[in-house]
Amino acid sequence: MDIATPTDYRTIAAGLVFPSEAFIDGHFVAARSGARFANVNPATAAILGEVAACDSEDVDAAVAAARRAFDTGAWSRAAPEARKDVLLRLAALLREHAEELAVMESLDSGKTITDCLNEVGHEVPNFFQWYGELIDKSFGKVAPTDESALALIVHEPVGVAGLVLPWNFPLLMAAWKLAPALAAGCSVVVKPAEQTPLTVLRLAELAAQAGLPDGVLNVVPGFGETAGQAIGRHQDIDVVSFTGSTEVGALFLKYASESNLKPVGLEMGGKSPFIVLDDAPIDDALVSNAVSAALWNGGQNCSANMRQFVPRARKDEFLDKVLARVASLKVGDPLDPATEMGAMVSADHQRRVLGFIDAGIGEGARVVAGGSGAIEGLDGYFVRPTVFDDVTHGMTIATEEIFGPVLGVIPFSKPEEALRMASDSVYGLHATVFTRDIDRALHFARRLPCGTVSINRFSEGDIKTPFGGYKRSGSLARDNGTEAIAQYQQTKTIWIGGPEG
Ligand code: NDP
Repeated sequence: MDIATPTDYRTIAAGLVFPSEAFIDGHFVAARSGARFANVNPATAAILGEVAACDSEDVDAAVAAARRAFDTGAWSRAAPEARKDVLLRLAALLREHAEELAVMESLDSGKTITDCLNEVGHEVPNFFQWYGELIDKSFGKVAPTDESALALIVHEPVGVAGLVLPWNFPLLMAAWKLAPALAAGCSVVVKPAEQTPLTVLRLAELAAQAGLPDGVLNVVPGFGETAGQAIGRHQDIDVVSFTGSTEVGALFLKYASESNLKPVGLEMGGKSPFIVLDDAPIDDALVSNAVSAALWNGGQNCSANMRQFVPRARKDEFLDKVLARVASLKVGDPLDPATEMGAMVSADHQRRVLGFIDAGIGEGARVVAGGSGAIEGLDGYFVRPTVFDDVTHGMTIATEEIFGPVLGVIPFSKPEEALRMASDSVYGLHATVFTRDIDRALHFARRLPCGTVSINRFSEGDIKTPFGGYKRSGSLARDNGTEAIAQYQQTKTIWIGGPEG
């Protein structure tokens, strides 16, 4: 069937059965306390259903199941080909259920159906396929020794991994962590964000269908302070991988230091620059990249390039073209394939973003598009795409992560001034540079203190390239690429024979 209209997607939505329980040891179960929380569609403010609110007792049960599964070796010590087959079957099932999952994700998060179809229907299955394929192609090492000894360096799954997820790319962030963790042979306990628990619960069901043994993948929906903290402090969780705010990332370091010193992989906030050097033509490609770098996913993106540095002499040309593109953005019903920007994830988050816009106005920046206020005819938690002129380095909106659809233009006189302001942030996740000059491109790429530098387009890289941040944007752990597997593995030396030493 060729699906292309909002009505088609609404028909799928009407037929959806939303998961509502935790997934522990291969089964859907209620929270032990019986507690539940309301799950809201942020584009309509309607309640989609109620979901089990797990707390530390449920986390204990999930960890016990994960540990049992790990110790049996049914997954952790299974033949690489067997684990690969399961992940490939999961990838196939995810593709088969792509439209169902994409609509569920859109309803749960307010994201556009177009983005959900791309992420859930295409990128997510590709993650399970890519890491599945990697399993039987990953080798250990043999260290150089004299001929009386053999020194092997092997990798082993670390054990039980706690994965704590954000709401901005619910199933994609699950896949970023789950696929390498499962490929490494770990058992996992996943806590989705309270705003977006649905699709990862459905994925757990599909993983069981694909043949993943009971207990290997457990999902505990619930709140950060309860379920999230219980994961962070658990004595029998061997590693945590977290994506979310820098404040909560810091809490996970504290939890680890106050419990079992588990390693913590952190992917956190950003305040990423988009730098236009004076030789770059301000053409359609540049303008479209500038707008999507700041506003894609409603700006709810850790690598959003909100700070846009433009040569003073070319600021008017840049702003005119950006404003024309922003004016044409279609904001509204996420289930309409023509929609380019959906809702903010929650009423709280809408308030937070509007608060930043008010702070920008209060500190003297000038709104030239959008600004505060609801959008007529829309009941959900929308924010107009907003563009600020007269932003100066040091203003709140140029310093703190807004995580909303806000683009700020900061003029500069010399390229080194742009480099200095762009680098002067507590964050270091991402940067984009537009220039035709290869020497300048390399200079900026080398000097910008961040995990990804993208030249002449806005890109976070892809499945094959590591993603993570410098400074308060991340730890040394990386998601994606072969590097991600390292988060979930121990390295062991096996030394055989040789002279006594
Ligand atoms: P959080 O950092 O609060 O949430 C991320 C995850 O951590 C969620 O699963 C959350 O659970 C959990 N969590 C929250 N509090 C605790 C806690 N005390 N102990 C253990 N786990 C906890 O992000 P928010 O949703 O509150 O968003 C706030 C800001 O964070 C955004 O505006 C944005 O700036 C940034 N952010 C960055 C993301 C990124 O991709 N780097 C993603 C999301 C947010 P629960 O959902 O139940 O609170």
